[in-house]
Amino acid sequence: MKIHEYQGKQLFAKAGVATPRGIVARTPDEAAAAFTQLGGPIAVVKSQIHAGGRGKGRFKEQPEQPGVKVVKSADEARENAKRMLGNTLVTIQTGPEGKQVNTIYVEGGLNIARELYLAVIVDREAGSPVVIMSSEGGVEIEHVAKVSPEKILKEPFHAGYGLQPYQARRLAYQLGLSGTAVTSAQSFLPKFCRFFVESDCSMAEVNPLVITAEGELVALDAKVTFDDNAMFRHKDFAELRDLSEENEFEVRAGKAGLSYVKLDGNIGCLVNGAGLAMSTMDLIKLHGGEPANFLDVGGGANVQQVTEAFSIILADKHVKAVLVNIFGGIMKCDTIVTALLSAYDTVGFTVPLVVRLEGTNVEIARKMLADSGRKIIAATDLTDAAQKVVATLKA
Ligand code: ADP
Ligand code: MG
Repeated sequence: MKIHEYQGKQLFAKAGVATPRGIVARTPDEAAAAFTQLGGPIAVVKSQIHAGGRGKGRFKEQPEQPGVKVVKSADEARENAKRMLGNTLVTIQTGPEGKQVNTIYVEGGLNIARELYLAVIVDREAGSPVVIMSSEGGVEIEHVAKVSPEKILKEPFHAGYGLQPYQARRLAYQLGLSGTAVTSAQSFLPKFCRFFVESDCSMAEVNPLVITAEGELVALDAKVTFDDNAMFRHKDFAELRDLSEENEFEVRAGKAGLSYVKLDGNIGCLVNGAGLAMSTMDLIKLHGGEPANFLDVGGGANVQQVTEAFSIILADKHVKAVLVNIFGGIMKCDTIVTALLSAYDTVGFTVPLVVRLEGTNVEIARKMLADSGRKIIAATDLTDAAQKVVATLKA
């Protein structure tokens, strides 16, 4: 689950991680009032979307307007907010369709001496969280990794003990910090790492992490992603969720207990089991097709779930054929066919449907399919199924 910058910064502040003072605004007048309240002389008006690159991003409706703008008066704050709110911001992370801005964060302007990069992620190889830092802040880290990988520092730390003082010092010296900034880093970095672990983040990124003219480290940006599997431990985070930022079909699937991820292809997939879903996608690709989605209905899917799964798949206008690949292990194949036929009739199919079944009672199930009178293409095995579904697109 992703959250907005302003929400991330509110959580940072609670964890003792320094951030600039800021106020949320949902109308141009609120943005002007926020400027006045912050007291100037400068403030930064920041579009809130679940994507980075806002500073360099531009609005579809206002091609001159950046997503993050330094302002020097309440009027200027109002005018910028007016050009942002309700409009679509396109950045390198949003894709060409962009994202609509519904919320603005007005933040006190800082006197920046240096911009660093900071992130904590889970390092699967090290089996621990790892701090990633770079002296090259404010720019795309992918770019730094490509042109000067030696400028990226990595410091794995123990999730239970946290980042140790010597580790924070080592990072500070490697980044070339001195004086007050080293002391500030020794306080900032362990707190940031504790926040990462205690909030069950999968990623927390601050780009840029600035050093002010006074030598203090301050988080100027906040990109936080939580591990969905740990959200049961953080009931209070539920209110931070912004459904308007999420894919409408993924939200619907989540409610129905289905694991669904939208992809770019045109073959809809309905599969039970995550491993089978992945091998199904692999086989579709092997035979020259492109899956439109990953969809795992789970081991014990019922009629309602299968119906909802079909209607989600078919609501995607890019879907030109559907492949159902089910292994009846926990559930019997004939039970699945009953659900399938009922869902078929409820949803109504306008694209070819290929079905491959295997497992308990498969003979009964295949006969039911053959006798059903519906336009269903039966496949005998996985390869046959993938070939048949790809062939329907070429026909
Ligand atoms: P994004 O990464 O989405 O472009 P940032 O929050 O990093 O958005 O802002 C972009 C740039 O705007 C920063 O790199 C920084 O130079 C400037 N900026 C952002 N917030 C402030 C602030 N409070 N004071 C001064 N400059 C800021
Ligand atoms: Mg940034």
